[in-house]
Amino acid sequence: MSKIRIDLRSDTVTKPSPEMRAAMASAEVGDDVYGEDPTVNRLQERVAALLGKEAALFVPSGTMSNQIAIKCLTQPGDEIICEYESHIYTYEASGPAFNSLVMPRPVKGHYGVMAIEDVARAIRPDNIQTGQTSLIEVENTHNRAGGTIYPLAEIEKLAEIANEHRIPMHLDGARLMNAAVSTGIAPAEYAKYFDSVSLCLSKGLGAPIGSVLSGSRNFIAKALRVRKIFGGAMRQVGILAAAGLYALDHNVQRLKIDHENAWLLAQGLSEIEGLYIDKQQVQTNMVIIFARSPRWTTEKIVQQLLEKGIGMNAVDQERIRAVTHLDVSRDQILETIEIFKKIMEA
Ligand SMILES: *Cc1c(COP(=O)(O)O)cnc(C)c1O
Repeated sequence: MSKIRIDLRSDTVTKPSPEMRAAMASAEVGDDVYGEDPTVNRLQERVAALLGKEAALFVPSGTMSNQIAIKCLTQPGDEIICEYESHIYTYEASGPAFNSLVMPRPVKGHYGVMAIEDVARAIRPDNIQTGQTSLIEVENTHNRAGGTIYPLAEIEKLAEIANEHRIPMHLDGARLMNAAVSTGIAPAEYAKYFDSVSLCLSKGLGAPIGSVLSGSRNFIAKALRVRKIFGGAMRQVGILAAAGLYALDHNVQRLKIDHENAWLLAQGLSEIEGLYIDKQQVQTNMVIIFARSPRWTTEKIVQQLLEKGIGMNAVDQERIRAVTHLDVSRDQILETIEIFKKIMEA
């Protein structure tokens, strides 16, 4: 494989900066299974406060964070409503079935946003012949929809029917900070409608590992036990929590730059013959590129880009995804546009 110089495959590829590594190296630590790691405790308090929740729990991955929430909020045999292309349904290796014995009831959304009538229709009646709907899950920003933002007004409507039916809500906020920075809406404002919220530190925020799950004190007490069962309880993990704290201190506001770069890339690529960008879809740090030329497959384009040192992922046979992040500069975006143009013209 050629060496990737400009890595737009995902914002998970970011590497810890020297400053972040220094913060990690000097972190105060203790045994977190005993609740004695001061840096982990600080991170958990910090995220709980950021999201307006009573408590929070540091976990190794976003997947584990979502899976713990699902386990805590459901019983075997229940149904959970989620968007058709949501991460929990698409990218967590059937985790809801494997870990929690629940059935996902996917609802097809528009830019990742589920129509309120569709959600209402998907809620099961109280009937012994059907499973019981025990959770509604929302993804913000929505990954497969292209980093799209779930509008607050839509979340409000969802919360209304969820309350009516006494169904808890979980937010997969892996990239919630991208939504917050883009809209100017406080993360807690989004989070207040949800019983649990998962936030990733290892995406655009630039930490090498880690997610934080937050919710009520009762919920987190339960989550603590489930994290142990899932094998996610860790020891002197303040070294990693320190990276998360550093990320929250330094890498939140700069997400704006990633969003500007995504927009720049979208503008540039949209002028290339054979490519199509739905600009309404470009809302945060992702660009979904529709490759329409009959001469090309998306796999082949991705291969050609790779040979020029540019990494992107083919989502499927018509979509390629590019993700901007803190290790990609504006100049590299301009270079990417030029190279893409040459490939498509060849
Ligand atoms: C990345 C991501 C996750 C978590 O993924 P991990 O690789 O397990 O950290 C969860 N939800 C969404 C929407 C994501 O993009």
